[in-house]
Amino acid sequence: MNQEFRATHEEVSKCNRCGFCQAHCPIFDITRDERSVARGHNVHVRKLLEGDLEINEDFKDPLFECLLCRSCVSNCFPAVQTDRNVIAGRAEYLKKVGQPGAMRFLFHQLLPDHAELARYVKLAALGKNSGMGALARAMGILQWFGQDLDEAEGIIESLPTSFFRERVDGLNLEPARADATVGYFVGCGFNFVLPHVSEDTVDVLVHAGARVRIADNCCCGLPAYGHGDLEAARRMARKNVEALERLDAELIVTECGSCSAFLKEYPALFEDEPAMRGRAERLSKRVRGFSEFLTGRLPESGDVPGPSGRVTYHDPCHLSRYQGVVREPRALLQRVSTLTYVELPDADRCCGAAGSYNVLHYEQSMKVLERKMESVKRTGADLLTTECPGCLIQLGYGVRRAGLDVRVAHLSQVLREAYLGRRPRDVERPGGDGGAWSEGNAGGGLGDLWSY
Ligand code: SF4
Ligand code: SF4
Repeated sequence: MNQEFRATHEEVSKCNRCGFCQAHCPIFDITRDERSVARGHNVHVRKLLEGDLEINEDFKDPLFECLLCRSCVSNCFPAVQTDRNVIAGRAEYLKKVGQPGAMRFLFHQLLPDHAELARYVKLAALGKNSGMGALARAMGILQWFGQDLDEAEGIIESLPTSFFRERVDGLNLEPARADATVGYFVGCGFNFVLPHVSEDTVDVLVHAGARVRIADNCCCGLPAYGHGDLEAARRMARKNVEALERLDAELIVTECGSCSAFLKEYPALFEDEPAMRGRAERLSKRVRGFSEFLTGRLPESGDVPGPSGRVTYHDPCHLSRYQGVVREPRALLQRVSTLTYVELPDADRCCGAAGSYNVLHYEQSMKVLERKMESVKRTGADLLTTECPGCLIQLGYGVRRAGLDVRVAHLSQVLREAYLGRRPRDVERPGGDGGAWSEGNAGGGLGDLWSY
């Protein structure tokens, strides 16, 4: 048993089998199957480490169906790190069984190279947006995802024809008066699917006095890590540590809750490499989530016309449970004088996006999402906000499916509206913006179902 295994064995052994986690697991709530809940995962992973478990579908399916949402961890008296144990189990599974070649290509060739990935996503976008789903499948991007592909494809309505990195030239990165220089970490979800949100984010950072430097980063590595491919995750982490060390910026900011969480967790990837661990630790101290960075930087809004109505907020798991960032986004929304903030029941319950979980496990994910939509209905909100691209896409799909008259927006879009008086940019208007709230279009705001 190597050191990594010993640490996991110690962790799974902390589980006292009390079963308290059952009441808090979104997947157990659906399956009522002991193999789906933290207690079951810990028993399985322990047996696996002890060589007392046959690797088969009975083990694999529940293991890969865990959302890694950490709801169990937050509600476990010995605080067993079940999400980490599940990932260790997945890593062991991949070691024994291997992973599909396409998955390996994604994690080892495409995600570590944003330019190469851009070429592939562009081809997939061409297929999807012209109705040629077959082309996207042939390119091997969308076909990596599960059996419910036809329905899962509907989660993302369309892919943009230009990405954030191609739009940077049209942005102002220098505030009139700067009091900080920040490196903007470009998350894959925003770069490739929601580039207009990134543009709005940069505007808000500049408005808040940040000189913005665009990082030459690759994927943070979380998709590979979550899948159990630790080798690929380490490779991307190493590349990013090097790229972010080169960047002339005090802080690294991203509006993707998953990226900021994983960047902060890089040191744990290098337990056996003290020098690399030290560099990762120095980096993790420079990382801030979007709302975390903005806290204390924005006054009460009110100088420009902006959005009005009832606003609520969904906590991305990687922001709230992984980083403890809960108060910050709410405080920012409560400073928007034209909005009334209402709390979302079970706001920190996973929405079912969980990276690519909604595509890989479509049916389970939709059941989790339906519960979230019931909570949204109860608030009577016109505007549903969050701080993660996966959640944003999933919640947008949820309101479309449920036929709710609720606009879904990233926190940065709402703050740009509130402080700059500009409506959100449209996905296909690179360099442009949605226009001023005062240009006779404010009435079309919150009632619209905003589409990606
Ligand atoms: S994971 Fe925690 S809450 Fe669940 S059975 Fe084990 S000790 Fe109890
Ligand atoms: S991480 Fe979430 S989905 Fe996985 S066992 Fe824990 S509560 Fe359930």
